[in-house]
Amino acid sequence: MFTSSKLPLKRTTGPEKTSPQRSTNESWFDRSRKVIAGGVDSPVRSFSAVGGTPFTVVRGSGAYLFDVEGNRYVDFIQSYGAVLLGHAHPVVTEAIKRAAADGTTYGAPTTGEVLLAEAICGRVAGCDQVRLVSSGTEAAMSAVRLARGYTGRNRIVKFAGCYHGHSDALLAGGGSGVATLGLAGSAGVPPGAVADTLVVPYNEVPDLDETVAAVIVEPVAANMNLVAPADGFLDGVRRACDAVGALLIFDEVITGFRLAAGGASATFEVRPDLWCFGKVIGGGLPVGALGGRAQILAYLAPDGPVYQAGTLSGNPLATAAGLAVLSNVDDAAYAQLTARAARFADRLTTSITDGGLAASVISIGPLVGLFVAEPGDGLGHEPGHDPEVDERTVRLPRNYDEARAIGENGVYRAFFHALLERGVALPPGPYEVMFPGLAHTDDDLEVAIDAAGEAATQVAGGLFKPR
Ligand SMILES: *Cc1c(COP(=O)(O)O)cnc(C)c1O
Repeated sequence: MFTSSKLPLKRTTGPEKTSPQRSTNESWFDRSRKVIAGGVDSPVRSFSAVGGTPFTVVRGSGAYLFDVEGNRYVDFIQSYGAVLLGHAHPVVTEAIKRAAADGTTYGAPTTGEVLLAEAICGRVAGCDQVRLVSSGTEAAMSAVRLARGYTGRNRIVKFAGCYHGHSDALLAGGGSGVATLGLAGSAGVPPGAVADTLVVPYNEVPDLDETVAAVIVEPVAANMNLVAPADGFLDGVRRACDAVGALLIFDEVITGFRLAAGGASATFEVRPDLWCFGKVIGGGLPVGALGGRAQILAYLAPDGPVYQAGTLSGNPLATAAGLAVLSNVDDAAYAQLTARAARFADRLTTSITDGGLAASVISIGPLVGLFVAEPGDGLGHEPGHDPEVDERTVRLPRNYDEARAIGENGVYRAFFHALLERGVALPPGPYEVMFPGLAHTDDDLEVAIDAAGEAATQVAGGLFKPR
């Protein structure tokens, strides 16, 4: 029999063997930095926005993460929203094990991809068909290509502060406060790649003309912290698109199957032409999907002229995990999650403000956005309100400029570390949202609320020194 011990494996040494010291977050990150660019496979994980050394995870379970030092954290990152049921939920791990036993990829149609596609189309009204891909980036990139191929137009309109993955054309304005034509969002993006990307402010209905192929929007902006669509905004964008024959793309990589079974299009009753999905629909495995009206999806190869492909697209492990999640979440679960997030946001606000910081914590469905500031730093409400209350709240941002005024105030950094030391992991940056999920119990939320009060007291007292 063929066993691993007989393989001529190169001996790898564990951390204990390379050095006599304990396995620490520091030692693992040092090691990582030698062989992985910047020590991470996605920049936000590096803690560069908050300072300090990231913890290196060995295990997740439900609402918790465990690091190499044996610390346990109540985790509000939840893989940036990819694990709705929490870490290592048995229905998901069992589905993955069963699928893996039958082979991990074939390069041929599978039953699993059909079942997941049916589950998606069955829940999202107006989404007749999907094409499964391996990430949200791919979904958005392919949706843009499809919109251009379908309309025969080149221009794409996106909103500053909305993130649609890291493809060249869509990085513009994803990390820059300047709303302007064709500003590349990264070195290495040639001007030509963004020449047809127009970046406009969120929550303002843009003026469009007949050169516009599509408007792409996060229906709830969840990559500049949490910004709600203003009344009439999504509807206005829908009408502006219709007036010039442009397609409307909802990037529901975060909101899809998290706000509600039908996502943001159901919640706000605005129907786009194309959807981008990801995160939740993979149950923690790499998946994305673009979807929309059959008439538009028909433009994709092989039936149509718009090329799109992927060796691992519709991967059987990922589709099994995604299907396990979607089949185990019903309307009652979304309602419960939404109610719990609203209570959590209220209690968190009170706890932090009682501790002496200014704060506003909001929830939109199950998504939670935390804004912290120093009292009296001018980020509070407009004059005319109760001054004592004004001092202790943070005015909610409506767009990227306003989100940045809060995000760059420096308070989040200290607050983040004060909470981490108390075993509560917030996302390591002020532009990410919190993802309380179905695994978080009332007790977990209570722990976070109490820790947030202590952390606020510590930060407000100027006592805190980040490691
Ligand atoms: C995460 C995200 C993406 C990119 O998805 P990846 O799987 O990271 O490529 C795109 N759009 C939105 C709204 C996202 O939050």
